[in-house]
Amino acid sequence: MAGGWGEFELIHRLRRRAGCDPRVVVGIGDDAAVVRPPSGRHLLLAADMLVEGGHFRRGTPARAVGRKALACNLSDIAAMGGTPRQALVSIGVPAGTPRRFVDDLFSGIFALAEEFGTRIVGGDTVRSRQLVVAVTLIGEAPPGGWVGRAGARPGDTICVTGPLGRSWKDGRDLRFVPRVKEARLLVRRGPPRAMIDISDGLAADLGHLLDAGGVGAVLHTGAIPLAVGARIEEALYDGEDYELIFTMDPRTADRIRRRPGGIGRLYPIGEVTDRRGELILEGPDGRRRRIPRRGFRHF
Ligand code: ADP
Ligand code: MG
Repeated sequence: MAGGWGEFELIHRLRRRAGCDPRVVVGIGDDAAVVRPPSGRHLLLAADMLVEGGHFRRGTPARAVGRKALACNLSDIAAMGGTPRQALVSIGVPAGTPRRFVDDLFSGIFALAEEFGTRIVGGDTVRSRQLVVAVTLIGEAPPGGWVGRAGARPGDTICVTGPLGRSWKDGRDLRFVPRVKEARLLVRRGPPRAMIDISDGLAADLGHLLDAGGVGAVLHTGAIPLAVGARIEEALYDGEDYELIFTMDPRTADRIRRRPGGIGRLYPIGEVTDRRGELILEGPDGRRRRIPRRGFRHF
């Protein structure tokens, strides 16, 4: 490959950096990775891909791009209440990309992987017009111990795990901490009836959860936590917050909220209704209006 580095040299370096793990029989370097399946548990498989221009700006530091590529996937496994284990990292790299850039990209990936106990076990490397990073993440959960999007019931409290809005504008999309730990604790102490992470925006992703459960929701304007400088419209529609939205029966939600422990602060923002697909925003004056569930994507 142009740029003074070759694919095989890269693979050799990645292999050295990947470390070892008793669950991984064969990691980077063979035709496929070999991992021991967790006995008696279910596997969770998530894939999320970042493309230059759409999911990160041209000129974003390589390390931040790598970090974000893994972080989005960790957020998906978190949204299912699972534990992340192994990742495959596939990259498309423009000709002439310096070796340093690719090493930095992987530094971002390896550092976050280490924090979350995740092993990089393989991937693919190709040349492409724009930079592309596609991560596949394997996680696990006990049978019946994961949380899907469906399952919300009328009367449930809707909570989010953190302030929303302006993530992309303020660069929080490059720094967010995936809510893996929080989700695992929620499953243990709840569990939530339905859960999803916010990639497209509160209104859009809550909308998916409502569709999956055949229910509706009322949100209270004053209860939605705003990121610094964010307006309510930004909290509803900006996206890339990577906080979790979940629903729980009100008594359990209240109990956890009073003693959140390692879960940190939870924000109850509304209730599930039986009005299928309908998203209502209640203003400070008590007036209710239907709001659009559109999402926001930067392309
Ligand atoms: P093949 O042509 O047989 O698919 P590759 O040369 O693509 O083999 O890959 C060789 C090894 O290097 C495999 O273990 C593969 O998973 C790993 N690998 C290739 N690219 C990456 C990457 N970007 N990140 C992690 N592992 C990689
Ligand atoms: Mg290959």
